[in-house]
Amino acid sequence: MPSRQQQFSDLFPNEPAFRWRQIEQAFFVPTIRSWDGVTSLSKDMRAALAVLPWMTVAADRVMAGASKDTHKALLTLGDGQVIETVLMENARGELTICVSSQVGCAMRCGFCATGRMGLKRSLDADEIIDQYRFWQHFLEDNKHRGGLHSDFSAIPPRISNIVFMGMGEPLANYENVKTALNVLLAQTDLGPTRITVSTVGVLPRLEQMLTDKTWPHVRLAISLHSAIAETRKQIVPTSYDDFLPRLADWARRYLTILGNRRHHLTFEYVMLNGVNDTDDHARALAAFVRSIGNVKCNLIPYNLTDCEFARSEDSRIERFLRILENAEVTATRRRTMGDDIAAACGQLIVLSGKTA
Ligand code: SAH
Repeated sequence: MPSRQQQFSDLFPNEPAFRWRQIEQAFFVPTIRSWDGVTSLSKDMRAALAVLPWMTVAADRVMAGASKDTHKALLTLGDGQVIETVLMENARGELTICVSSQVGCAMRCGFCATGRMGLKRSLDADEIIDQYRFWQHFLEDNKHRGGLHSDFSAIPPRISNIVFMGMGEPLANYENVKTALNVLLAQTDLGPTRITVSTVGVLPRLEQMLTDKTWPHVRLAISLHSAIAETRKQIVPTSYDDFLPRLADWARRYLTILGNRRHHLTFEYVMLNGVNDTDDHARALAAFVRSIGNVKCNLIPYNLTDCEFARSEDSRIERFLRILENAEVTATRRRTMGDDIAAACGQLIVLSGKTA
């Protein structure tokens, strides 16, 4: 399917460039819900544009977690495929959305539910952008209805962060993710440090990023999960023998080129009981991080999926954290949200249109 912008220029080849910008701006006004609402366009143009999708995603179902601080939406795409996207509210009423970049995923990490779907297809840029717009509409419609955790009657809800941690491997869909990032940065009030792309570590794309002038330097999180090659290969099947030294080499160059107070790298580390959570693993992670530099570690308690892994004990996670801290490695523990509606990291899966 050609992009909305492409379809627009096919329909109106002689329009000046600012016309599309006008339309794109209207896309991000949460109260405008159809072409007819774009009053900066002539009536005729609005009528002709009705053949283009105003939204490329439609809510099939929205589920709320028990404390209403997490919502998960099942979105149907134009071809009937279904993806999931998540909205999270922290204690200060700040809103983070978690977006998908593909339908399913080809990476097949052993602990991740999405991997079990296999890859159906990549999303196009419009479908990624429209997940943000979907949540804008949802927030607009729910701000006075008490469906959200915080009270938004005085200050309107505002999405303050976007994480590409939903279904899919964003760097396996590099061009569309890049286009979506550039539109989101241009049309929302979010700066590049408010957006995080999480990747299993697709090295050719990470390399490309270093010299790609049109790749916006949003934050990057690398799903490391082990600094011991054997273990990483076991749980992340796309890993290989020399992945770790090559990643370290890339990371040092990344930080030389882009590193500053606001730009660091994050290593994500899902804590799997008895697999990657021993003292030896903590020491290996600390040594690996210290060989690179400005990297923060984020420990993710394993969220249940139907696979053989189990979540590390809390005391294990605490001990692991202390080993990292003693080695002067900055580490945090990710708060688990939405696991009661299978909206937590790694729980997103759509099986023939139904959630598992
Ligand atoms: N493909 C991207 C985005 C994946 S989801 C990536 O690999 O980074 C974001 C994070 O959730 C990743 O770090 C992923 O490894 C982690 N994750 C996957 N399954 C999980 C599970 N069952 N419990 C906790 N975290 C999980």
